[in-house]
Amino acid sequence: MKIHHIRNATIVVEYAGKKILVDPMLSDKGTLPAFIPSKTWSFKRNPLYDLPISKAEIVKDIDFVFVSHLHYDHWDKEAVNTLPKGIKIFVQDLADQLKIEKSGFTNVEILTENSSYGEIKLNRTKAQHGKGYILRIAGFVCGLVLKHPTEKTLYIAADTVWYEGVLEALDQYKPDIVILNGGDNQFAFGGQLVMNKEDIYEVHKAIPSATIVVSHMEGVNHHTLTRKDLKEFLNEKGITDKVNVPEDGESYIF
Ligand SMILES: [Zn+2]
Repeated sequence: MKIHHIRNATIVVEYAGKKILVDPMLSDKGTLPAFIPSKTWSFKRNPLYDLPISKAEIVKDIDFVFVSHLHYDHWDKEAVNTLPKGIKIFVQDLADQLKIEKSGFTNVEILTENSSYGEIKLNRTKAQHGKGYILRIAGFVCGLVLKHPTEKTLYIAADTVWYEGVLEALDQYKPDIVILNGGDNQFAFGGQLVMNKEDIYEVHKAIPSATIVVSHMEGVNHHTLTRKDLKEFLNEKGITDKVNVPEDGESYIF
């Protein structure tokens, strides 16, 4: 498989001959509002950086899209404008399906624990977008496991903190490759919304054989963890060979 990290949580995965677009946020730098009030009191508009390649290149030859939830750092107006309206889109639930269909998309499917796309098995996994009362604001999200006889197993955890649902997915599917959303994004209240560095370390300890790719770094204004700080932490723990922190535009082949 090839994992091409684009920006924030947007990733293009080439898997068993198919091209999969994950959580497309395709807007130009600074054209979306800031998440406010953010923990760091950053009021910078989003996204913080431009795309490393053109929108046309990102959506070229995509077979299907996985949208983990509809926050605008995962599904934005530019994704709506750029993607062909008949493209296959997998979503977590009926609410997200109806909203995406309202934008004109005609081929939206709700993931189950036993979905598929051709020969690729798609298993919906649990995810939890924070801890405690902030979940009422953050809402629902799901992760995804991809399996194919000729490929390693890939687990895309999506916007989730470390909690028993992630451990369950690791135990059940024993993924070889795990994409985690780091960045420790936070509003001024309510605590973490995605993984912090300790969470990433917990995932590594739970499945030390897996290679981890940390996405959702420095893409939007409410992040509190930088790539530099995360890399220092990984270095201290001696796990830089198991946990990759891609720059925007960087790719890996597994
Ligand atoms: Zn997010």
